[in-house]
Amino acid sequence: MLSCKLKINQIAVFHTDTKIIFSILPKQKRSSCPLCNKYGNRIHSHYVRSLADLPISGKLVQLQLRARKFFCRNKSCPRKIFTERFSQDILPYARRLCRSIDVLRSIGLEVGGNKGALISRIAGNPVSSSTILRLIQQLEIEGTTTTSGVIGVDDWAFKKGRNYGTIIVDLERKKVVDLLPDREADTLKQWLLKHPEIHTVSRDRASAYSKGTKEGTKEAIEVADRYHLHVNLRDAFKRVLHKHSTTLKAAFIAFSRPGNREPLLEEEKARSLPTPKCTSNSQRQMKFEKAKELHQQGYRIKTIAKMLQAGPRTIGKYIQHDEFPKRQAPVLQVTMTNFHEFREYLSKFYGKQDYPTLYKNIRDKGFNGKYTQFCSNMNQFIKPDSDNIFLPKLSPIKTWSTSKISFMVLQPEDRLKKTDQAFLKFLYNKAPEIKAAVEMAVQFKSLFKNKEEGPLESWLTRALQPESELRSFARGVKHDYSAINQVVISVISNGQVEGQVNKLKNIKRMMYGRANFPLLKKMVLHESMVHQK
Ligand SMILES: [Zn+2]
Repeated sequence: MLSCKLKINQIAVFHTDTKIIFSILPKQKRSSCPLCNKYGNRIHSHYVRSLADLPISGKLVQLQLRARKFFCRNKSCPRKIFTERFSQDILPYARRLCRSIDVLRSIGLEVGGNKGALISRIAGNPVSSSTILRLIQQLEIEGTTTTSGVIGVDDWAFKKGRNYGTIIVDLERKKVVDLLPDREADTLKQWLLKHPEIHTVSRDRASAYSKGTKEGTKEAIEVADRYHLHVNLRDAFKRVLHKHSTTLKAAFIAFSRPGNREPLLEEEKARSLPTPKCTSNSQRQMKFEKAKELHQQGYRIKTIAKMLQAGPRTIGKYIQHDEFPKRQAPVLQVTMTNFHEFREYLSKFYGKQDYPTLYKNIRDKGFNGKYTQFCSNMNQFIKPDSDNIFLPKLSPIKTWSTSKISFMVLQPEDRLKKTDQAFLKFLYNKAPEIKAAVEMAVQFKSLFKNKEEGPLESWLTRALQPESELRSFARGVKHDYSAINQVVISVISNGQVEGQVNKLKNIKRMMYGRANFPLLKKMVLHESMVHQK
């Protein structure tokens, strides 16, 4: 009835509203000592052992086994008394039957501790999240011993900016092979030394992995990661745009206001426009870390600001913070007032009364803004030295961030919006040097299409010319030439590693911060084994 291999002498059943209790007297005559394996049959004492089982009709099930303690017959055995051992379904010291443990562990491996505890409660087998995590920790899951020989390596953040681990994926079997606790060259090297069958390693452009691969394998082919290559290319292009920011700003104005053709005016206006900022968090973080470092070396805030091309207040803020301050979402401000209703009145008295009096008068007539809003409205609409004091409102100047432009130029034209297309055409006309850089970047991107040997070489020759804008990027490519050439000629891609990293992040977050490295490793390897056969 209990469908476990326990031999039963007598059984009694009690039940309450929530619980069914089986009180059991086992049938086995004797039991063997766990140390010396000799059977003992002299009973020392009895005790009741409680074990949880799977629920029946939503009710908790508890087995109460009347277990015995035996004397060990072996005189030389260090254990004098031992407790009775039962069938394989009941492990020594366990508080629940194996099948119950298996169910809880499977739930935990799928959804983590907290969610697992919730589901187990719904299923009528309530346990705490810690119990589920403990059950997973008891499980032995190790990385795969042999691989197909083609692996992808990438890093993942345990805590972003603080500590990182490494994920190793079998690119042919599409499985996670192992997780490493850091992203050092030496750790990867040690791992690779245990896997001599590996002949191809796809990795991102981090030099640590390159070093680890070279030292850990004899002649493995290294393949750079296409995604990071594209990121580097875009960053390089952004730097080009920064270099030509004045031209770019002039282009924004000329594009938005086609009438304004005079170059002088454009240039003057351009100066008043904010410089297109490179606002990627990684760059700000880089500045943050650099500022901290320089400050520790004893540099003054003003000096650091000059060195890093940032405002002294920004640097001051960085130094005060222990952690990199994230940018907050801008607060929406409602600035609409009914200023336009008083234009006629203001044009009559403008110049005869000062601003506070004008403000007081129109406020009495029903103006709904504050004094500062009144002033900014006045400044916007009134030009003192012209006869007509109310100029028509100028059309706003449309701008594009450097990130956006670097994204746009690498897209096929038909995928862009009409305005974006038009602006790019306009920009290429205005700035041939930017156009040249775009052509260079597009050519680099198209290298990966045809899988031929040779085009990278000729691209490099062109890109390393002194007039080329992407020279520094090209130097980086040259430095890592063999790995990048592999991307051009082979079909191996690190794309699925990124996918596996996403999955890992998902599992990590599901664990609500309770996933230490060994636990996370078990969850990830289990996920990979079960779901990707
Ligand atoms: Zn013994």
